Amino acid sequence: MAGDAIDTAGESPCQSCGACCSYSENWPRFTIEDDAQLDLIPAQFVNARQSGMRCEGDRCSALSGKIGEATRCVVYAVRPEVCRTCQPGDAECAMARRRHGLPLIASAPPD
Ligand code: SF4
Ligand code: SF4
Repeated sequence: MAGDAIDTAGESPCQSCGACCSYSENWPRFTIEDDAQLDLIPAQFVNARQSGMRCEGDRCSALSGKIGEATRCVVYAVRPEVCRTCQPGDAECAMARRRHGLPLIASAPPD
């Protein structure tokens, strides 16, 4: 969900995952976004401190669907930077998928 990389089958594994969006309430935090970018995120998905996405437990409130089956980010087009940089197969992906009992994804080979 977080990343937008495409696997060899042409489909992102994130669409049937969502594990990193439900890993830690501290994860979908704001970092380098400017005010104009943050203003695009609907207020109901932003936490009280305005420091990141609002979570319910470890799960981001913008995550829709069932983890490991079919998930979707309802603010995908305006999601925070950390969500854009997490990619299938990277270290954060592996930690999140392990937490949810999902098989790990092989990293893409270097170009
Ligand atoms: S844990 Fe990995 S595969 Fe799952 S949504 Fe995040 S980046 Fe995608
Ligand atoms: S904003 Fe979207 S991509 Fe980021 S953690 Fe929440 S559901 Fe996942």
